[in-house]
Amino acid sequence: MKRILLVSLAAALAFTPSFSADKAPRNEKVKNVILIIGDGMGLAAASSWMIDRNYEPTCFDRAQFVGIAKTYSANSKVTDSAASGTAIACGVKTNNSMLGMTPDTVAVPSIATYAREKGLPVGIVVSSYILDATPGAFFAHVAKRGDRKGIIEDMIKFKPDVIVGGGRKYFTQPDYVPENMIEKAKAAGFTYVETPEEFYETTKTPILGLFAEDSYPMAIERDLDYLKDAAMHTIDILDDCKKGFFVMIEGSHIDHAAHANNAEQLTFEMEEFDRLVNAAFDYADSHKGTLVIVTADHETGGVTLNSAAKDSKSVTGIDVKFSTTSHTGSPLPIYAYGASAWRFGQVMENTDIFVRMKELLIDKK
Ligand SMILES: [Zn+2]
Repeated sequence: MKRILLVSLAAALAFTPSFSADKAPRNEKVKNVILIIGDGMGLAAASSWMIDRNYEPTCFDRAQFVGIAKTYSANSKVTDSAASGTAIACGVKTNNSMLGMTPDTVAVPSIATYAREKGLPVGIVVSSYILDATPGAFFAHVAKRGDRKGIIEDMIKFKPDVIVGGGRKYFTQPDYVPENMIEKAKAAGFTYVETPEEFYETTKTPILGLFAEDSYPMAIERDLDYLKDAAMHTIDILDDCKKGFFVMIEGSHIDHAAHANNAEQLTFEMEEFDRLVNAAFDYADSHKGTLVIVTADHETGGVTLNSAAKDSKSVTGIDVKFSTTSHTGSPLPIYAYGASAWRFGQVMENTDIFVRMKELLIDKK
């Protein structure tokens, strides 16, 4: 029995990807930051994908340093995407539903604002709609996340070099806005595109891409390379700037799959996310000074990985279960890769993600 155990342990080790922290460039100056947020992606959601792949290496196995983020907001132990987006983007804990401001409504600059002031281009790529709370935290300052008009006006004012995702109706329908805001964005200088294919042919910034009336569809309904391709085209445009860039990419629908307690949808979202993160890590391998941070804003669904066994003797897989259709207070993994990734290998507040990105990309500390 002991021998069998040893043999299987040796076999398991042979298939374990080597720990690569020693290969991470320790104090390399950070020129580019690629921040990837899996909305609602807790450790169990990431782990469900690893189990789904039968422990073949996933993007998560490639992380050079791993940290843990505490997510509570200013007014709740269980945050929403607005407060957690603000924590990551701007470094302050605010109340749920508030974007880019303190609980007493004082606007705060985001890491994207600081990047812009330093002459670095900014890109935002999402799979839901571009006015959602997570992207909004990087350019908007509104007391209510549902204030579409305010978020659009702040977006046009901030003018990201690239911003793409869904949400056309919020720019055009009188229920949301009194005038056609796509026309307003064009008048402000945006190149406007309506499909990913049109986007891939476009390089003239600033670019506004609205690829769907509402959210861009969930991964289960479409091409699983969308996030990767849109992100890499964005990076291809931004890295013409020799000073560096900041880009935020959101795997938005992980949250929606978990809200729906739909394990099949979750798998498709995780596969799309894996392709995106692997591409970002590959980019860091070939572009010195690139730091990739992969994290989430909150956990959704209370995902648990139960045994699918009928009894203690059966060989079994995992039965993904959910304990809620809402968000939870679980702390979150932070997977870091590339230049100075070690700075994220700790237990920290979600606001520290902003602090460390700013120290590395802006203050060059
Ligand atoms: Zn949610």
